Amino acid sequence: MLRMSTLFLRTLREDPADAEVPSHKLMVRGGYVRRAAPGVYSWMPLGKIVLDNVAAVIREEMNRIGGQEMLLPTLLPSDYYEATGRWTEYGDALFRLKDRKGGDYALTPTHEELFTSLVKGEYSSYKDFPVILYQVQEKFRDEARPRAGVLRGREFHMKDSYSFDLDDEGLQHSYDLHRQAYVRIFGRLGLRFAVVSAQSGAMGGSLSEEFLAETPTGEDTFVRSTGSDYAANVEAVDTPAPPAASVEGRPQAQVHHTPDTPTIETLVGFFNAAGLGRTFTAADTLKNVLVKTRRPGDDDWEIVGVGVPGDREVDMKRLEAALHPADVALLDEADFEANPFLVKGYVGPNGLLANKLRYLVDPRVAPGTAWVTGADKPDHHVMDLVCGRDFVPDGTVEAADVREGDASPDGQGTLYTARGIEIGHIFQLGRKYTDAFELDALGADGKPKRVTMGSYGIGVSRVLAAVVEQSHDGKGIVWPREIAPADVHVVGTGKGDQIETALRIAEELEQRGVRVLVDDRKGVSPGVKFTDAELLGVPTGLIVGKGLSEGVLELRDRASGESEEIALDAAVDRVASAVAAG
Ligand code: ATP
Ligand code: MG
Repeated sequence: MLRMSTLFLRTLREDPADAEVPSHKLMVRGGYVRRAAPGVYSWMPLGKIVLDNVAAVIREEMNRIGGQEMLLPTLLPSDYYEATGRWTEYGDALFRLKDRKGGDYALTPTHEELFTSLVKGEYSSYKDFPVILYQVQEKFRDEARPRAGVLRGREFHMKDSYSFDLDDEGLQHSYDLHRQAYVRIFGRLGLRFAVVSAQSGAMGGSLSEEFLAETPTGEDTFVRSTGSDYAANVEAVDTPAPPAASVEGRPQAQVHHTPDTPTIETLVGFFNAAGLGRTFTAADTLKNVLVKTRRPGDDDWEIVGVGVPGDREVDMKRLEAALHPADVALLDEADFEANPFLVKGYVGPNGLLANKLRYLVDPRVAPGTAWVTGADKPDHHVMDLVCGRDFVPDGTVEAADVREGDASPDGQGTLYTARGIEIGHIFQLGRKYTDAFELDALGADGKPKRVTMGSYGIGVSRVLAAVVEQSHDGKGIVWPREIAPADVHVVGTGKGDQIETALRIAEELEQRGVRVLVDDRKGVSPGVKFTDAELLGVPTGLIVGKGLSEGVLELRDRASGESEEIALDAAVDRVASAVAAG
């Protein structure tokens, strides 16, 4: 039983000055956490209980898929990370320190290396596999912007698991098991979430998915469909292409002198005023944006033309994702000077193609579509330039921005933008780490086989805050019962024997297996006790107050705010059945 009279807890009436999002404000005001340093938090008694409750749900579901829990060190010599190149690749987010002998160490941000090397140490035969190993543990990342309390910490709690399989089908199976476990975990935690593919279909969309808890305060933007449960990162949206049309009988391309048309708007206005008997919109124009890309390990940049309909912008994040792992940058003046055929503002497909530059287009620029676009000389544009007849692009690229109202890629409904918090990530790593550590299993045929790997994370502390983001009101937190610090908050108010009765009922409830928090503080006003109860967010409240002399108590439901008078004699049964009802 938790007793408010002795609990190490001080609630606050004011929001902390550094807090912007509800979960941060409420977890601090409710005394669940206290900040020790930027992005570093102490978990107070109630916070520890809730954190453990979240971890318990995760453990149950991980054990159900056959995961085996371990606990690895958070202090590791650099050697592990050097073996995979991550000692440098990880950059500034890795906390590095030296021991007294000058040896390099890291505070671990994630544990692929040590798990891989442990499996290599213990296992050697195909009979040993598959295996799923996990831990629930503190992670350290020197985030550039630790924010929003425990949502983005520099020390935070993560469940990380790793699967080791003999082949791709095995990996797919381990991945599917994790996906199912995650759906169950977040469902049990009462979260509203979407599973989004982290990469576009072209890059193998199912190889990695993120679980996003939908909240207006989320850092990640994603799109959902009005007509299905399609959800994806903006980077992963595949534009539905119009069907290829015939080029037969289309008017010939014509070059027009188009002075004073520096913008798409003025260009469209020019053609509409030209008396051509047709109406043009920005979507009829083809905008060619020049970028340069460089593949990892290459010294030279390659100039690439990207064609998108003129009513859209190139979304650099989408373009970068599409061209990953190459770097992408915009051209500078020097690039234009070095390539005089690039006539700024009048770049057309044919100028690019004639000069052997790679030219990639939005999928809407499909064979048979006709465009108004640059004619590769100053003050000139061409109309009726037909894709597939007058120019043949080198391929398509997902670079155009995604807009609210765009058709959903699955053909059902239209897209709208939502915001979310990444609460989990599942990832088919393949052999990157097993190659680095040469983790092989001896096959039935006596030949060594390289093991393949998946890695799967859940931000335990972040999930907790995400629950609060989704489940609170103006008065405080509204915990789902599964993770609440207690099932019932028994509040004794008054100067008579209310507190004694509250304690007696609490005792009885506890014997029935109900988790109880009892407010047995003397000399604290009823108003303060009720305010605290609402702030703390325990799902059921039982008030032992003035009515006690008539044998009447009050049962309160935190989520609905509804309350009901109940008889003293029935109180234990009523609370127990409210708890059992969930
Ligand atoms: P983000 O994009 O939010 O930085 P990430 O891609 O770095 O996340 P992973 O490396 O996949 O995250 O880590 C697994 C999980 O750990 C994430 O899905 C998230 O729930 C959690 N997590 C990651 N970084 C933090 C952090 N700084 N604070 C709290 N939880 C975190
Ligand atoms: Mg990160």
